[in-house]
Amino acid sequence: MVEPDEVEAAVQRALEAGVRGIVTPATNPADLERTLQLGRDFSSCVKVAVGLHPHDASALDASFRRRLEQAAGQAGVVAIGEIGLDYHYMNSPREDQLQALEWQLDLAAESELPVIIHNRESWHDLFPALERREGSLRGVCHSFTEPPAVVKEVLALGLYIGVSGMVTFRRADNIREMVAAIEIDRLLVETDSPFLAPMPHRGRPNEPAFVPLVGAAVAEVLGLSIDDVASRTTANVERLFDCGFGQDT
Ligand SMILES: [Zn+2]
Repeated sequence: MVEPDEVEAAVQRALEAGVRGIVTPATNPADLERTLQLGRDFSSCVKVAVGLHPHDASALDASFRRRLEQAAGQAGVVAIGEIGLDYHYMNSPREDQLQALEWQLDLAAESELPVIIHNRESWHDLFPALERREGSLRGVCHSFTEPPAVVKEVLALGLYIGVSGMVTFRRADNIREMVAAIEIDRLLVETDSPFLAPMPHRGRPNEPAFVPLVGAAVAEVLGLSIDDVASRTTANVERLFDCGFGQDT
């Protein structure tokens, strides 16, 4: 459990490192309220996504559905997420994961919000679920690690792709190949905190202040300047999540 003053210090460090804004997702019944509070405490620079991670899909009962429906309408809530499928850990049964995914995709459509999508070893089930909603679906496949052929499918659906600290790892040529296949106007940079800290912080807890290192690695792969990647990925976030950092919206 991270103490509130530690969170405040982490947000401060991010702003000092040049990060303009943060979108942070709730992932389960235990962290929903705390995440909403974070959005209220730092309303100009922290926006919130509300959702149930596939790990906890079995927790989607009637009362949590009501809490999510109510949270989706609150100020500062810009997305439904994390939602998706995770067949690597299979912490919730596949059927529960698919049911939670569909219900939350419906919630996003009704709330006119984009989604933050988690995928691990599950694209074969995830892609058809997303494709059925092509046209109305908006969102990002976060911390993505699929090959360029799958990147094409994601971009064709109109979705964005989130790139994490893996792009800085020495042996992650596959991630750099994937990044090279993403149009800059569809690319977001992220932490996946506390996981996947970029080099030279690898193995330690990740935090938003490290995200410029991800941007720098993306810039190198795409042959763009770091400033260009910073301003364009910030614009992408504000466009996708329909929010403005530095404003209380
Ligand atoms: Zn995830």
